[in-house]
Amino acid sequence: MTTPTSTSTPVVAHTREELAVARAALDDGDVAVVMTMGALHEGHASLIKVARRRARHVIVTIFLNPLQFGPREDLSRYPRTIDSDLAICAREGVDLVFTPSPDVVYPDGDPGVRVSAGPLGDVLEGQSRPGHFDGVLTVVGKLLHLTRPDLAYYGQKDAQQLLLIRRMARDLDFPLEVVAVPTVREADGLAMSSRNVYLTPSDREAALALSRALHAGAEIAAEGPSAVRRAARAVLVAEPLVLVDYLVLVHPETLEDVPEWYRGEALLAVAARVGTTRLIDNVPVRLGPDGGALPAFSGSQG
Ligand code: AMP
Repeated sequence: MTTPTSTSTPVVAHTREELAVARAALDDGDVAVVMTMGALHEGHASLIKVARRRARHVIVTIFLNPLQFGPREDLSRYPRTIDSDLAICAREGVDLVFTPSPDVVYPDGDPGVRVSAGPLGDVLEGQSRPGHFDGVLTVVGKLLHLTRPDLAYYGQKDAQQLLLIRRMARDLDFPLEVVAVPTVREADGLAMSSRNVYLTPSDREAALALSRALHAGAEIAAEGPSAVRRAARAVLVAEPLVLVDYLVLVHPETLEDVPEWYRGEALLAVAARVGTTRLIDNVPVRLGPDGGALPAFSGSQG
């Protein structure tokens, strides 16, 4: 275990024992956790900042969870940047970083017992990535038990994941509050993602179509669901380098397509392949006479 050299340097724990000792020291006030797969960027930093506003202590976990990657996915090439990750954690005043290896998290190999995401885990991302959300919820459950937070912060960027973690906490009685943090974007609208480093310059230019499409849809939310879908799709089809996996306007709790008569909050979500990179993005919209993008999409957030 690395112990702090100054008040702003987090304790870094690699093992369960190191984590237990460091966690026991955080006994004066609320503890928040921010779970990540590393390759930290300003989106992750925003989660930490928001957590720090409410909680006395912040734990960041950095763990590339093999259980949530499919056999043909990007686990082996996923960016690993632990030094700069720790620098960001230090800059943001994180108390404790838990960065275990897979054999620490899964000492007996792949767990035979896993958390099932249920039907909400089979649609959208789950349809393209079978078993993904069971892998996510299994590791989230384990990390919640290990870190014992009062508050846990997740990004709206991964809206389906956030919804499923909320449902798990409620359905399985995890004693904590799940808090959502708005998506942080680059100045040109691209949602920040650790996977953006895979994008070539022409991919990156093309990838802007995702946020542009969401914006175009959200802007005419007052005209109803089919107008929103049509406007967003028109932007995407104009960009030949973007291969759309799905573009949906769904109810934020059920993830079912909203009918034409629907009024209220909905989620406009997209997944697409750009070059070799699979990207996702979404924006909450309010359908109806007072419709439009909800505050979470009004420009870049710090
Ligand atoms: P990841 O490391 O990609 O698994 O993400 C860790 C956490 O950061 C998840 O809760 C994500 O939803 C969140 N996150 C990732 N990208 C962003 C972003 N651009 N803005 C806000 N939160 C984000």
